[in-house]
Amino acid sequence: MPSRSRRPASVVAVCVALGGATVPATALAARPVVWVQAGHEGPREPGYRAQTGAGGGPFGSEVAFNTRVAARVEARLRAAGVDARHTPGLVTPWGARGAVFVSIHFDSPGGQAAVGYAVSNPARGENYYRGEGSATPSPTPYPGSVRHRRATTVSPSVERRSRSLARFISRRLGAAHTPSKGAGAPFAGVTPRNGNVRMQYFYGYYRARTGARVLVECGAAGADDAFLSRSDLVAGTVAGGIIDYLRRRGSLPAARS
Ligand SMILES: [Zn+2]
Repeated sequence: MPSRSRRPASVVAVCVALGGATVPATALAARPVVWVQAGHEGPREPGYRAQTGAGGGPFGSEVAFNTRVAARVEARLRAAGVDARHTPGLVTPWGARGAVFVSIHFDSPGGQAAVGYAVSNPARGENYYRGEGSATPSPTPYPGSVRHRRATTVSPSVERRSRSLARFISRRLGAAHTPSKGAGAPFAGVTPRNGNVRMQYFYGYYRARTGARVLVECGAAGADDAFLSRSDLVAGTVAGGIIDYLRRRGSLPAARS
């Protein structure tokens, strides 16, 4: 019923005429779109279908953790006025547009908590693996690499925004990832630009067209199990970092004090 949905706009128009409309006009602005990917959740991306995620963790597998936390991140974002949308490992739809793409993961035992972001590098695109995702990441296909879907572009402005978002999430995650809250693995913060090709050239960055694109390793299985079991706490750090970023960019109204 389009006529009904248009009614609030006319209310705002009246408020503008009266000179007091900044709050309702902001509230009715287009809600920012955030894509939340549960890492490794099926259906998975061609070329990465063998990457089924780490085992263990507080819920038995990485996928169980990722889907649980992704749902909580989405709920918190919606409560803050964000248009949160879910995607499995197969980025759906291809070329998803919006403000943010975030992929939720945990690291295997011996790993760490960290936040990776999309790096713009014309000499290197997404990682290739053997077959459907085995062996070490390579900038070029192996013989027998399964054909990838078309890649989107990671521009220098996407890199800047992705790094900014990664810093906001890292600040929140780092404040919570402490021994008193059950964390035992190292916290590495934002991955250095040339630090980890697995996190800097993650395929998901090349299937979305959002302004910012990041991957969060919320912790490491084993040493961080007690921390990772607090899925509301973990989801709150990721959602909180995204909200901080959107507010800084003016895409969400500032917090009320
Ligand atoms: Zn993962």
